[in-house]
Amino acid sequence: MSEHAAVVAGIPVDTRHWIAGERVASTSTFPDVSPIDGQVIAEVARGGAAEAAAAIEAARVAFPGWAATDRAERARILHAIADGVDKRLDELALVETTDNGALLRSHRNGVMPRVAHNFRFFADWLLGLGHEDFETRGHRNHVSWDPAGVCVLITPWNAPLMLATWKVAPALAAGNTVVLKPAEWSPLTASLLADIAAEAGLPSGVLNVVQGYGAEAGAALVADPAVSRISFTGSVPTARRIAAAAAANLTPLSLELGGKSPLLVFEDADLDLAVDLAVEQYDNAGQVCLAGTRLLVHDGVAAEFTERFLARASGLVQGDPRAPGTDVGPNIHRDHLARVDGFVRRAADQGAATLLGGGPNTDLGGLYYRPTLLTGMPPGSEILTEEVFGPVLTLQTFGTEEEAVALANGTRYGLAAVVATGSPERAERVSAALVAGTVWVNCFFVRDLRAPFGGARQSGVGREGGDWSFDFYCDLKNTVTAPWEK
Ligand code: NAD
Repeated sequence: MSEHAAVVAGIPVDTRHWIAGERVASTSTFPDVSPIDGQVIAEVARGGAAEAAAAIEAARVAFPGWAATDRAERARILHAIADGVDKRLDELALVETTDNGALLRSHRNGVMPRVAHNFRFFADWLLGLGHEDFETRGHRNHVSWDPAGVCVLITPWNAPLMLATWKVAPALAAGNTVVLKPAEWSPLTASLLADIAAEAGLPSGVLNVVQGYGAEAGAALVADPAVSRISFTGSVPTARRIAAAAAANLTPLSLELGGKSPLLVFEDADLDLAVDLAVEQYDNAGQVCLAGTRLLVHDGVAAEFTERFLARASGLVQGDPRAPGTDVGPNIHRDHLARVDGFVRRAADQGAATLLGGGPNTDLGGLYYRPTLLTGMPPGSEILTEEVFGPVLTLQTFGTEEEAVALANGTRYGLAAVVATGSPERAERVSAALVAGTVWVNCFFVRDLRAPFGGARQSGVGREGGDWSFDFYCDLKNTVTAPWEK
């Protein structure tokens, strides 16, 4: 094994960049630490301006060939990538869990099959993409979706390969070439994706992967004037930096950002279901952008809801994410754990009562934070308005539907909302009044790639999914042709 390769859970992973169809090293590396036990599992190439420029140049050179490749051939290669993902499902799941600490069974049964589905879905959608021609005084209007060019895709650590391929697949399907920069806390599966894409026959330079820190590799990529699209998933502060860099070149941006989503429980809700939905918000140790972390419960059912919730949540098994019986794994990194704990400490200082958890799990040590429920915070306090991104929920009560909606909409975010109610009429009224990119009524996390996905307010700019992805990753063109003389 060379110094540029790691063996993670028995699986070899090349830790260099992937540029123009070749592995490229950097002069330095950064350590990749597993949240499961705090061990360094890989030394990863630390890219900067030079690697960013090389990857963008590779993508620029590869663009005309890939853009001219007919749709059926592009779709065939994307399906071959999906086949490769399916073939390596177990390995991808194991590497991802070791790298980011999310549950192995979710990676194996849910996340990695969705990675393959991302490629299949956008390949098939491409084949049906189109608009009927229409006439203006005998002139034919023909709308086409032209590939845009080089797309820079920047992704976070909480669902690394799922979120990366949700961008890579439509960007490639649309005929673009790509430079992907995965998060430095979970860089490994992006490298495996490069192998899979090459094996599937994706031409050199069409997909490039640059590893490194956001402030170095990421900042260089988004500032490059040769880039035609930037799609970013991550935090609001980083989005501001990226938007400022993009503004200099007027590079079109898609931003999928944080949330502080509400979960509303009305007095007519099925309380068993409402409790299930609420406990589900601890999934991935609360590191889910869409998580409904603010439980808003009607006064009339709050006591019973709380009692049932605590009974269920205190039975959650915390531990090694590879163990089949584990419900809640570790948080990603010691800096992140300290951040999560800081929110909880300050909330307690401001008068919050801790109904569950409230600190690191000292039995397990390391990066495990106890599922936590806080209540009694003053309105407008930090814990009610800022995204924690850990296993920390808050509980507030309301008396009327109007109050519930006002509380739900009372942050600068608008990513998602979950509504538990037994009344279809109320569901319709409340959904219409909520400011959110996605509203789930009596369900959570049901996702369909045909649907628009994104956030209102500071939860994002733009939508991806189905046609919306192609609208973003393409230059739409209308060609108006006068009648041909007979
Ligand atoms: P982050 O903003 O710290 O980092 C995200 C990515 O941006 C990383 O790859 C990082 O290296 C890169 N980056 C950092 N600085 C950069 C810069 N100056 N220029 C270019 N790239 C830079 O976010 P994170 O901590 O990795 O992820 C957590 C956040 O992501 C949370 O806010 C979460 O809600 C959000 N998120 C949103 C969605 C969504 O779909 N809306 C999904 C998952 C996560």
